[in-house]
Amino acid sequence: MQIYNTLSKQKELLIPIISGRIGLYVCGPTVYGEPHLGHARPAITFDVLVRYLTQIGYKVRYVRNITDVGHLENDADEGEDKIEKKARIEQLEPMEVAQFYIDSYHRAMDKLNVLRPSIEPRASGHIMEQIEMIEKIMEKGYAYTSNGSVYFDVPKYNAAYGYGKLSGRVLDELLVNTRTLDGQEEKCNPADFALWKKAGEEHIMKWRSPWSIGFPGWHIECTAMSTKYLGEYFDIHGGGMDLLFPHHESEVCQATVANGKGSVKYWMHNNMITINGQKMGKSLGNFITLNQFFTGEHPMLKRAYSPMTIRYFILQAHYRGTVDFSNEALMAAEKGLQKLYAAEKLLDKLPEKEKSEENITDWVQRCYDAMNDDMNTPRLIAELFDAVRIINSVKENRISLTKEDIQLMKVNFRLFFFDILGLLPEQSNDNNITEGLMKLIIEMRREAKLNKNWMMADAIRNQLAAIGITIKDTKEGVTWEI
Ligand code: ZN
Repeated sequence: MQIYNTLSKQKELLIPIISGRIGLYVCGPTVYGEPHLGHARPAITFDVLVRYLTQIGYKVRYVRNITDVGHLENDADEGEDKIEKKARIEQLEPMEVAQFYIDSYHRAMDKLNVLRPSIEPRASGHIMEQIEMIEKIMEKGYAYTSNGSVYFDVPKYNAAYGYGKLSGRVLDELLVNTRTLDGQEEKCNPADFALWKKAGEEHIMKWRSPWSIGFPGWHIECTAMSTKYLGEYFDIHGGGMDLLFPHHESEVCQATVANGKGSVKYWMHNNMITINGQKMGKSLGNFITLNQFFTGEHPMLKRAYSPMTIRYFILQAHYRGTVDFSNEALMAAEKGLQKLYAAEKLLDKLPEKEKSEENITDWVQRCYDAMNDDMNTPRLIAELFDAVRIINSVKENRISLTKEDIQLMKVNFRLFFFDILGLLPEQSNDNNITEGLMKLIIEMRREAKLNKNWMMADAIRNQLAAIGITIKDTKEGVTWEI
C-alpha cells in the first residue's frame, strides 16, 4: 500500500529517514501537577498518529520526554523551577514530586487508552547529553557565558541562519516586546535564552558543569534527547501549539547550530483546549483535572464523563482546530459514541443476502482517505456514522449486503473504531454503569438506615453479598468491592 504523508495535504510519500522506521519525538509533560485536559489532547493526538502509522505498516520509534528539571515559572529564564517549588511547598524531594505526578499521568493516560511511548526519557537523566550539546553550540560560537550561566546568542544566529522560521516571530519585534525581567541583565540581548543556569544556594537539583554548578535550560533537553534517540535528523516532532514559541523555535536554533541543519522533517502541533470558551487556568477556577472529569467531582461538571467520552470528544475535532469543553458538548459526544457502540454490536447479527446495494470497498477506502488527509479524525468519524446508517438499514432489511461485504465492514469498522481511534470496547462503560448502580444502591441503604428501616438495610447488604459484592462502612463513607 502506498502511504502518503499524513501531515500534509500534498500527496507526498512519507519516507522514513531511518530506513524502515519513523522517528517521532513529542514534548511530554512537566511533572509538577495532576494531569488535566491540556495533557490529554497531545497524548491522544500522537497516540492516534502512532496507531495509524503502525496499522499501515510502519515501525515507529516514539520518544516522549518527561521534564523533571529546568522548566522555570512563566516559561521564562527566571523564577523558580516548577518542580522544586512544589517540593518546597510540600516538603518533599523534587524527585518524589516528579515520580508522584509521573505515576498519576500514566494512570490517567492508561484510562484514556493512550499507549505508552517506546522511550520516555527524563531530563534529569540526560544532564551529560545536554552539557555536551551546549559545548557543541559554544564551540560553534553561538553561545556565551555570563556569571556562570550560558546563553544562546539569538542576534548572531539570526544574522547567520534567520530566526523565527518555525513560529514566524521576527527578532526586531521580539526585542521591542520582551520585558526586562529581574536577573536578565546577565543576557547580552533580551531575546537570548538560557542553555545552562548557575544554581543559587537554595537550589536542590543541580549538577557540575564546565561553567558552574547549575542546571540545564528548558529547551536544550529536547534537542539533546531527540538527537540521542532519533539521530540528528528525524521524521516528526510534535507537541502542543503553546510550545511552538519559544520552546520549539529555540530547539530549531539549537539543532541548527549543533548539527548543522534543522533536525526535523515535519513539525506537527495540536491546538489548545478551552473550557466554556475560556483558556484553562487555575486563577479562572476552570482548571479541571482528568480524574475530576472521570468522577464528576468539580463544581463546573454536571456529572462524571467516562475516559472514552473524553477521548472521543477530543477526536471529534481536527487536531489543528481548537476544542471547547462544556457539559452540553460532552453529553452530545457521549450520545454519538453510544450510537457507534450500538452499531458495532449489530455487526455480528446482520442478515446476509445475495447481492450488495452499498459499495463497502469504497467506504473502506474513504476511511483511509480521511486519515491520509492530515489525520482528519472528524472526517473518519463521519465515515463511521455512514457505516452506522448502512448497518441499521441492513438490520431493518431496507438494503442488502453479501456475506463478504458484511465481513469487510465488520473488520474495518472495528479496525478504525477500536484500533486506530483507540476507543475501547464498551466494557469501560459497563464499569460506569456498575459504578452508577452501586452509588444508587448505597444511597438507598443509607436512606433505609436514616428511616431506621434496619430490615431493608440488612436485606440490601445480604443480597449484594449473595451476588459477590461486599460493602463496608468506613470513616470515609461506604465502600464496595466485588
Ligand atoms: Zn520539548
